[in-house]
Amino acid sequence: MSPIATSTVSARAARGSTTAAFEKSKYDVIIIGAGILGTALAATLGKRGRDVLLIERDWKEPDRIVGELLQPGGVQALKILGLEDCLEGIDAVPCSGYAVFYEPDKVMVSYPSDKTPNSGRSFHHGRFVMNLRRAARNAPNVTPVEGTASTLIHCPVTDQIIGCSYSYRNKDGATLSKNVYAPLTVVADGCFSKFRKQHIAKDVTSASNFVGFVLKDCQLPHPNHGHVVLAKPSPVLLYQIGTHDTRILVDVPGKLPSVSNGDLPTYLRTHIGPQLPSDVQPAFYEALKTERLRSMPNSWLPPSSNARDGLILLGDAMNMRHPLTGGGMTVALWDVVHVDRLLASSAVPDLADTALVMRRLGELHWTRKPLSSVVNILAQALYSLFSAGDDQHMKSLQMACFEYFKLGGRCVSTPAGLLAGVIPEPLTLVGHFFAVAFYGVYLICTGRLETDPSKDHNRGLFNLPWNLWRSVMAIWTACVVVLPVIASELQR
Ligand SMILES: Cc1cc2nc3c(=O)[nH]c(=O)nc-3n(C[C@H](O)[C@H](O)[C@H](O)COP(=O)(O)OP(=O)(O)OC[C@H]3O[C@@H](n4cnc5c(N)ncnc54)[C@H](O)[C@@H]3O)c2cc1C
Repeated sequence: MSPIATSTVSARAARGSTTAAFEKSKYDVIIIGAGILGTALAATLGKRGRDVLLIERDWKEPDRIVGELLQPGGVQALKILGLEDCLEGIDAVPCSGYAVFYEPDKVMVSYPSDKTPNSGRSFHHGRFVMNLRRAARNAPNVTPVEGTASTLIHCPVTDQIIGCSYSYRNKDGATLSKNVYAPLTVVADGCFSKFRKQHIAKDVTSASNFVGFVLKDCQLPHPNHGHVVLAKPSPVLLYQIGTHDTRILVDVPGKLPSVSNGDLPTYLRTHIGPQLPSDVQPAFYEALKTERLRSMPNSWLPPSSNARDGLILLGDAMNMRHPLTGGGMTVALWDVVHVDRLLASSAVPDLADTALVMRRLGELHWTRKPLSSVVNILAQALYSLFSAGDDQHMKSLQMACFEYFKLGGRCVSTPAGLLAGVIPEPLTLVGHFFAVAFYGVYLICTGRLETDPSKDHNRGLFNLPWNLWRSVMAIWTACVVVLPVIASELQR
């Protein structure tokens, strides 16, 4: 018996659920969350002939300030998955790299053309998600349902996760609950994951928030590029997400000032506005008067390997990094590529063979590592440098990084390729990071890197002890920034 009445079927079908969804209770795979990862995975596994239930709490177009710039590596993953048409019809803007502003200077960090056959894309997040959802719903063998997953069901004998309960509303608005079962449940419920705590021992930390709003008809100095402003105390991002819309994300470290008492708008107007490129300022001040300020925590969650039979956590539920480098969707889409390969029916004919499924999914932790660790380490390390604040040694590294990009050639094209998600080589990243640190030492010792502009006496032997100290501290700071992140990548 269907739990929803006929009159509500068409409305529900439009938003996701079908009557059949509420009648059936056994599937090959249950996916919780129809966001970036859940939709792409559902479409992919459905096309492979797996019987998929996709549970999403709200099928309406999401209105969020996240996931708006897809790196070329993510576009490549979409192509592999046959989902590249999800970028069509959403007024997406091609992105060929970044312009980095460090007053009064700037440098272009363009994606390497030999490594990036396709550009990145920036867009309204909700429009992209709706295309992905459409692809998932139209894929064979995918049953979409509108409901909120509440608990995972475990087998009292084997302790394996065998499905989940979700709640949904019937035609009278009453909340009902339903149990569904599958040999594999995928949790892809995003950054505020409800299920993470029970299954991942690592903690989520957030050092800052991004405050976001839209600038109308803003003329960015470098169209088709993301813009990073190395403001004080931390960076500001700008990129076009549609013909008329430009997203601004202002990183605000520590506790967020209140919007209601006007502290946050005042901070943005008086402290951030003057640091933006002059072309951007009129649209910025105008938007402050009209646009709603929204915020999201910038979280860090090192990856974990799967520990429970019948269950896997993926996407932001399992691994997050600072969104400065816009890598989260690229990692999520490549994880779908990996899972698809690991669970190919030639290798795993029957998903009910839990031992085999878990062995294959166990490989995911290391299979994803080359790309995900590059994205994770780069995001965390660059954020540390770009939010140097008053830390003079961090500031040395920040300036060294900027000067390193200015050297051009491989000093900028390889970091740009790492950022683009097309060079999945962690050692290359670490090499460039320390090259920046040693370039900083060179600049310090030759008196060309002064973090305190009031000092102009930095040349000559007289300053040698001080410069040696600064050099040692620059290398030490580089180690303190990057080694803990590398260590977190080496743990399971
Ligand atoms: C401020 C900010 C900016 C960002 N910018 C970028 C960027 O420019 N580029 C980039 O690549 N990445 C960016 N990211 C990261 C990116 O948004 C995420 O990595 C990506 O969205 C993760 O996808 P996901 O599928 O794991 O989660 P989501 O896309 O968040 O999807 C989770 C889904 O689960 C649903 N859900 C949650 N709980 C339940 C439940 N109990 N039952 C049913 N459904 C549920 C939600 O409604 C949602 O649809 C940004 C992140 C932040 C914080």
